[in-house]
Amino acid sequence: MIEPLEALKDYIRFSSVSTDPAYADSMVAARNYAQGLLEGLGFQVEVVDTELHPILYAERFGDPAWPHIVIYGHYDVQPADPFELWTSAPFEPEVREGRIYGRGAADNKGPTIVHMTALSRVLAEHPDLPLNITYVIEGEEEIGSESMPAFFDHYAERLAKADFILVSDTGSPNTEQIVITTALRGLVDFEVKLRGAKSDLHSGIHGGAVYNPILALTEICASLHTPDGRVNVPGFYDDVLPVLEWEREELARYPETEESYKQMLDVEAFYPANGLSPLEAVRFGPTLEFNGIGGGYQGVGSKTVIPSEAFVKITCRLVANQDPVKIQKQLFETIRERCPEGIRLTFRDGGIAPAYLAIPPERPNTPVDQPESLARAFKSADKAIESSFGTAPIYLREGGSIPVIADFNKRAGLEALMIGLFTPVDNLHAPDESFDLTLMDKAIVAFEQIFKDIAGV
Ligand SMILES: [Zn+2]
Repeated sequence: MIEPLEALKDYIRFSSVSTDPAYADSMVAARNYAQGLLEGLGFQVEVVDTELHPILYAERFGDPAWPHIVIYGHYDVQPADPFELWTSAPFEPEVREGRIYGRGAADNKGPTIVHMTALSRVLAEHPDLPLNITYVIEGEEEIGSESMPAFFDHYAERLAKADFILVSDTGSPNTEQIVITTALRGLVDFEVKLRGAKSDLHSGIHGGAVYNPILALTEICASLHTPDGRVNVPGFYDDVLPVLEWEREELARYPETEESYKQMLDVEAFYPANGLSPLEAVRFGPTLEFNGIGGGYQGVGSKTVIPSEAFVKITCRLVANQDPVKIQKQLFETIRERCPEGIRLTFRDGGIAPAYLAIPPERPNTPVDQPESLARAFKSADKAIESSFGTAPIYLREGGSIPVIADFNKRAGLEALMIGLFTPVDNLHAPDESFDLTLMDKAIVAFEQIFKDIAGV
């Protein structure tokens, strides 16, 4: 049986930073470690080669008639820099006051160990557990899952035979209140570049004759929202589905208020659009944000020029049912139309990702064709979480994006059950990342129950 704390310590010790080639050996070691754990649980493990970091594809297979779940995770972590801001070394796990500290403790090594430990306990009790399980553990989640599309080309058919996918790579508000994530936002990422004259111009000699690219750019930017904060692009909201009352009620159970949110961000006022509250806006609404803007002279003092170029980086977060291809087209057309004559416009396409929605059973907006197996899994999770944590889970849309979840849906037709195991104090992607050991223990108990329930033992 897996001893979770020791296993997690071992796993954290492999500094599996996917983005930095200096950590290539540790990536291999972390992957070998995860492979060893899976083999110890009786899985047949395939190491699927990719352009960069291989993917672990593991199967425990019995009767095809058994329920079949896919469990997704990632063995890579974010860089630990700046090292000096860590209380203890990021790859030398340390337990302090009920938490284990180390890079990857919460994202995503802790949750992976939770799943595996629960499984090891269930299998010890029921060696012939009637449950088919496929594990997909990738090594490029923190750098955009770029090898996953090619992986789906070869494995989507096998994955499509499963009932649903289980993921614990989302958050919960605290260690007592677990969230089951019902939606992820999609993304449209691009950059607009405007060019005027072939080089910066003397503003005394040429000023007054030409359109300044910074003026054109800021006019375009300012035109992209109405004064009440709505995105001012024709058709942008056309496909947005209404948020139902039960979803607002779930959000009302979320242990955060507008006031505490204000304090946390240190802002004096919010600016949500479309009649949403700020807490609703980050989950239920689509956005258009300016992420960076530049052009002209940025040095010390002044320089009397009309710059040749100006740029802005923009991302939109999309909600369920908005088509990223259509939205990108509408955005590009609108921006092109609003670009004045004499200014040359180019786009850099930074990519798109669809939003994802997974509504639990028996709600007014539950899809009529929701697979029975997924409905059962939602119910099992609800019951197991309530009994282990003492509180029923909250069903909540999340503002972030995990494009690979939408890909599992699009490529293999799998719906996701997303049970959040990290909390805001876990410091994901930041110094002193940690994972709460009480939450870990309760989550293991909950997942034991979930696996047994799904298998029907
Ligand atoms: Zn993660």
